[in-house]
Amino acid sequence: GCNINAMMKVLVTGGAGYIGSHIVKALGERQYEIVVYDNLSYGHPGAVLYGRLIQGDLADQVLLHDVFRRERFDAVIHMSAFIVVDESIRDPLKYYRNNFVNALNLIETCLQYRVYACIFSSTAAVYGIPDKVPVTEDSPLLPINPYGASKVMVEQALHDVSISAPFRYISLRYFNVAGADRLTRIGQARKDATHLITVSLRTALGKNNYLDIFGTDYPTPDGTCIRDYIHVDDLADAHILALEYLRKGGGSAIYNCGYGHGASVQEVVNRVKYVTGIDFPVRYADRRPGDPPALIADASKIRKELGWTPKHDDLDYIIRTAWEWEKKITTTPQTHP
Ligand code: UDP
Repeated sequence: GCNINAMMKVLVTGGAGYIGSHIVKALGERQYEIVVYDNLSYGHPGAVLYGRLIQGDLADQVLLHDVFRRERFDAVIHMSAFIVVDESIRDPLKYYRNNFVNALNLIETCLQYRVYACIFSSTAAVYGIPDKVPVTEDSPLLPINPYGASKVMVEQALHDVSISAPFRYISLRYFNVAGADRLTRIGQARKDATHLITVSLRTALGKNNYLDIFGTDYPTPDGTCIRDYIHVDDLADAHILALEYLRKGGGSAIYNCGYGHGASVQEVVNRVKYVTGIDFPVRYADRRPGDPPALIADASKIRKELGWTPKHDDLDYIIRTAWEWEKKITTTPQTHP
């Protein structure tokens, strides 16, 4: 490819994680210079396909300053965060400290070193239980769990800093990210993953005795929750577009990242059974705390303003790539050394 990005150097916090590693791949394929900053609490060095990895924590302000002093970043993609909703209810301070306080450390360091472009990993959880779906970006921010609240707080800080300094940011609100690399090099590697597609596939592989469907009495057509599942490579492309938009001088903005339609938990489970060809046991269980009934993105803004055109709007493709990945890490446990 052409080398116009050779001069753009990007710091990716959380770049060794599931979504981060796909973003690093997308950046690397386009010749960006990449430095990953990750404490490896859940990330894996082997997931970083391009660039350099610095093992560090955002709580370590001395190291963070060293890195910013040594490197001259043009932009930061801030991905590192805890993401498990019910854990955030049990241990809110863990979430406020890592997701909010550590983000403040990073933003403050950006300002000190005049790094004035930031892409932030936000979430549909900022909306809580939306009045209407698909949900637009101007819907009220009423998170119903500390995870979502911690992301709202970072968005607020980014907004306020963008008023007080020449700093610009793009907040991308992810809906339900799933799937894996087309070539099965990277994917969801957490052993304790809680996300529906990963847990279903691991149940198909016999790692769990049954899949729990959390709640069958939601106000949805089949009583199970509806989510907008988006392939991780399409989400990674959104980050590239956001970065290029900031580089061209675009102003701060917030975008939903989803396909604009949803699938119910029951429908996802049915498709997982179809794609894998395995009829695993399902248990109908109580609701899980903190789950809104339906979350579907209105993503017309990012399509229109950034020209985002998803390539993998296909639940079976999402499941198939994740399935290939799950089989690989099962038969080759050293995939991520
Ligand atoms: N879910 C489920 N069983 C599981 C995992 C998830 O029924 O083993 C449901 C969950 O209650 C929610 C939906 O699947 O309604 C998506 O949950 P996930 O954890 O994948 O993502 P979230 O929407 O919480 O970010």
